[in-house]
Amino acid sequence: MQSIVKQSRRIVVKVGSSLVTNEGQGLDHAALARWAEQIARLKEMGKEVVLVSSGAIAEGMQRLNWKKRPHALHELQAAAAVGQMGLVQAYESCFRGHNIQAAQVLLTHEDLSDRKRYLNARSTLITLLSLNVIPVINENDTVATDEIRFGDNDTLAALVTNLIEADVLIILTDQGGLFTADPRKDAKATLVREARAGDPAIESMAGGAGSAIGRGGMLTKVMAAKRAARSGAHTVIASGHENGVLLLLAQGKAIGTQLLAETMTLAARKQWLADHLQMRGNVILDEGAVKALTGSGKSLLSIGVTGVLGNFERGEVVGCFDPAGREIARGLVNYNAAETRRILRRASNEIESILGYVGEPELIHRDNLVLL
Ligand code: GLU
Repeated sequence: MQSIVKQSRRIVVKVGSSLVTNEGQGLDHAALARWAEQIARLKEMGKEVVLVSSGAIAEGMQRLNWKKRPHALHELQAAAAVGQMGLVQAYESCFRGHNIQAAQVLLTHEDLSDRKRYLNARSTLITLLSLNVIPVINENDTVATDEIRFGDNDTLAALVTNLIEADVLIILTDQGGLFTADPRKDAKATLVREARAGDPAIESMAGGAGSAIGRGGMLTKVMAAKRAARSGAHTVIASGHENGVLLLLAQGKAIGTQLLAETMTLAARKQWLADHLQMRGNVILDEGAVKALTGSGKSLLSIGVTGVLGNFERGEVVGCFDPAGREIARGLVNYNAAETRRILRRASNEIESILGYVGEPELIHRDNLVLL
């Protein structure tokens, strides 16, 4: 069996607090340097990497001289705000040592369910990747507490995987992977090497529906894999204590547990778009645009639009109709209805002079478009 990381191009790597801190007190700088070094090597292999890292709370506690992790959420949030400074500073200097620029991106779950913010976050991250920058993502703990309470960033990492259509999500943890039972309690527990993401059997192995979702326990990881699979991404859950684990995975060595998504990335993403978002308005296309979409799989440009119906915001779903009134596609629109009315029949390079700014050159990017 080979690791699916080998043939993956776009990768989200999630490292939990246990792998970047000194047992919850302050950052483990040597560990951060090892993660940065491995990620630099992955980039040399031609892979695009987004890093989702915890560690802010642990660093904040040390900076504030708190010996015990507080229970009050607002105190944990305050610690995260202090510690995030140290976390990004540390990553920045590690990556700089490899001549790589890093970028801090703080997100909440809400950012990724709101359509407008979803598109904004997606464009930013994809632009960063195209600029060869490593985005270093954490939950925006000042305004959200989901990951502090439950996930230690497992869910956030899955949402980011959906957002950028990554091929694989690697969740690194302090355990060897998913076991058939809790290895700390059951001597007969064996490692699950491969399974289907979303298989109910693995959910029960990870703790079962009845068990409490602990902060970053195995159940949140299995649920994260299920979520990642919705956009066609596979998940690997592996031990971050294995030396050079990211490089070994990238070379094809199967380490830990692989949870496989069943469908192809783009097809799955489009299905997910089609199922999850409601249509808010329509645009009418000329024959040239219809041909570009249906014949050559191109994006929809404003020049090919002849009319706009309804009122929609950026990031909402619009139906695309041919001149005869048949709906031929649906997609996430980059400009709102009023803006679209102003730029229709105009070339993409005119958008800036008409609107005073330019977002994306396409009205609907082909990755965000489902043909009907
Ligand atoms: N976002 C938090 C951090 O980076 C999550 C980890 C935790 O709850 O300890 O510190």
